[in-house]
Amino acid sequence: MKPANVAEFYRRLRDLEPAPKTELKYINAYTLLVAVVLSAQATDVGVNKATGPLFAVVDTPEKMLKLGEAGLKNYIKTIGLFNAKAANVIALSKILIEQHGSQVPATRDALEALPGVGRKTANVVLNVAFGQHTIAVDTHIFRVGNRTGLAPGKNPLEVEEKLEKVTPAEFKQHAHHWLILHGRYVCIARTPQCWRCVVADLCTFKPKTPPPGDAKAKPRTVPKPKAVKSRKPAPKAVKRRP
Ligand code: SF4
Repeated sequence: MKPANVAEFYRRLRDLEPAPKTELKYINAYTLLVAVVLSAQATDVGVNKATGPLFAVVDTPEKMLKLGEAGLKNYIKTIGLFNAKAANVIALSKILIEQHGSQVPATRDALEALPGVGRKTANVVLNVAFGQHTIAVDTHIFRVGNRTGLAPGKNPLEVEEKLEKVTPAEFKQHAHHWLILHGRYVCIARTPQCWRCVVADLCTFKPKTPPPGDAKAKPRTVPKPKAVKSRKPAPKAVKRRP
C-alpha cells in the first residue's frame, strides 16, 4: 500500500474511534497483565466475565498469592486452559514480588521472562499500561494486515515488523486497537463486510463483499484468510525457579 494511502487508512479508522481502548477490563497494570495472560486463546468477553469478580478482590500480586492457585481456579474455570493459566499467574505474581518490587516491569525482556507472557502479551502491556508504541499482532491484525495489503507477512512477527515500518508516528500509539476493532467488527474472518468499510477504496482485497441482498451481485466465496500459526500464544510452562 502506498504511504499516502496508509496514512489515510489510519486517519479514517481514527475518525471512527479517536481514543480506542482495550476491551479487556482491568484496574491497574497488574490486573491488565493478568487479564492479557488469561486471554490467550479466549475471548475478551469470556475473560471479562471471570475477571470482574476476581479483580474486585484481587488487584495486587500479594493478594493473588493469598488467594492461591486453587482459589484462582475457582474464578477462572470458565476460561480455556485455566489450569495452566492459574499456575502461570501465581508464578508470575511471585516473581513480580521478589524481583520487581510488586510492580509490572516496563521492558519487553522483563515481561517476556514471566511465565505465560509471550511477545504479543508483552506488546499489549507495554502499549496499554505504559503508552509505548508497540503493535501486538493477534489473529485480527494478522488478517487485516495481509488482506488489505497494509502489512503482508507470513507470520505475526513479520506483520508486526511491517506495521512498525509503515505506520506513521502519529498513529502508532493506537494502531493496535484500531486494527483490532476493524478486524473484529468489519473486516471479519469469514466474510469481510466490505460494503460498510470506510477503507474499502484503499484496501487491495478483491473481490469486495457486496451488500447483503444485492440482486446483481454474483454469489462469491471469500478466500479463507491465511492461518495464523499461533492465534494467541499458548501459555508457557511455569518456569521453575532454582
Ligand atoms: S474492503 Fe473488505 S477486505 Fe478490505 S478492509 Fe474493508 S472489509 Fe476488509
